[in-house]
Amino acid sequence: MTTRDPAYLTDEHRMLRDQARRFVVEEIRPHGDAWEKQGHVPRDVYRRMGSLGFFGVRYPEKYGGSAMNAIASAVLWEEMAKCGYSGVVVGASVHAEMASPHLARYGTEKQKDRWMPKIVSGEAITAVAVTEPDGGSDVAALKTRARRKGNDKWVLNGSKLFITNGVLADVYFVAARTDPEAKGSRGISMFIVEKGTKGFTVAKELDKMGWRSSDTAELVFEDCEIPSENILGEENKGFYSIMSNFQNERLVAGASAAGECARAIEITMEWVKQRKAFGGVLWDKQVIRSKMATMAMKLEAGRQLVYHAAHLDALGLDCVKEVSMVKAYMGEFVNECMYVCGQMHGGMAFMRESTIERMYRDARVHAIGGGATEVMLEEVAKRM
Ligand SMILES: Cc1cc2nc3c(=O)[nH]c(=O)nc-3n(C[C@H](O)[C@H](O)[C@H](O)COP(=O)(O)OP(=O)(O)OC[C@H]3O[C@@H](n4cnc5c(N)ncnc54)[C@H](O)[C@@H]3O)c2cc1C
Repeated sequence: MTTRDPAYLTDEHRMLRDQARRFVVEEIRPHGDAWEKQGHVPRDVYRRMGSLGFFGVRYPEKYGGSAMNAIASAVLWEEMAKCGYSGVVVGASVHAEMASPHLARYGTEKQKDRWMPKIVSGEAITAVAVTEPDGGSDVAALKTRARRKGNDKWVLNGSKLFITNGVLADVYFVAARTDPEAKGSRGISMFIVEKGTKGFTVAKELDKMGWRSSDTAELVFEDCEIPSENILGEENKGFYSIMSNFQNERLVAGASAAGECARAIEITMEWVKQRKAFGGVLWDKQVIRSKMATMAMKLEAGRQLVYHAAHLDALGLDCVKEVSMVKAYMGEFVNECMYVCGQMHGGMAFMRESTIERMYRDARVHAIGGGATEVMLEEVAKRM
């Protein structure tokens, strides 16, 4: 289903979208099923996405990026999500838009010079590790501990749960408590931990309901020593960087959900226009047309909200309320949309071979990960 673009989309945005569209059709869809079985996307696909510029949309040209803004991110991940394999999209978008921004925004020149070119090219894959077994929504309550050892080391102890790219990543941005005396959100810092560091293990790859082509892991830090220069950003100010990065993460999640809904509506329209029932096709029934029109209407509203929030962000304006609305609205609507589109597919929606079955499973986590709907609505309420 095509909806009209906001007036401020440029030719550059459209070129990016065309490139993503070609990549989806030619290089994701033919392999998506294999990657779902494999549990991850091969590393050379990351390098291919890097070569197409998908990982550097927001990053400076000196690292190989194209220095665009949040509108470009929305365009890219909305289009990528139309592939119908959300696991493929989330692995890539966590790397490009949720993990690596921690380094890009708060890293020293030395840290950035070391990692950013490899991140943009897709040679190095990144993960962000905030959530812990005891909870994810309440970031301020995290328990992983980082202690100084002499003047030149930090020692990390604790564990992280549900970490996207946890197995595949080369570099991890890890949140840990550096000042146990400080209450709540104060006393948290971010650290760069490289794969292979002694005391750091990928304890378990988790078996998931959806997003099966992305790997999700539990990470354990046991007396894991890292150089003191691996602190990322200001000591004890990590909570604020996590919160500010959440804005981008939530916007991209909303744009991806919009792409998923567009794809589900597209394949369902093809289905209802040819599926025979009661002497005609399903599309002949007013109730079917009404349901599909409702899905189109709600998607239009959500998509315009995504672009409105991206536009505010691009203008440098505070958009926490709008981004929280995007995450809450799209997180719920993508689930409704998959349910309704699945219903139109009848028994086929329950079959592993059908696209809508996978999309239905993939959609579930949108209302949970990166800020559950209830938490997002609380952010909106605080601003009312
Ligand atoms: C597939 C997947 C990938 C993920 N990837 C990453 C990653 O890469 N990095 C990372 O750090 N984390 C990641 N997460 C973690 C994700 O962000 C958390 O699952 C999410 O923040 C919710 O935390 P929780 O699961 O601990 O649920 P809890 O915090 O225990 O909350 C449980 C439920 O309680 C409700 N709730 C919570 N707080 C409130 C409140 N204040 N008011 C009302 N209701 C509330 C919500 O419905 C919520 O779903 C991932 C999760 C999944 C499932």
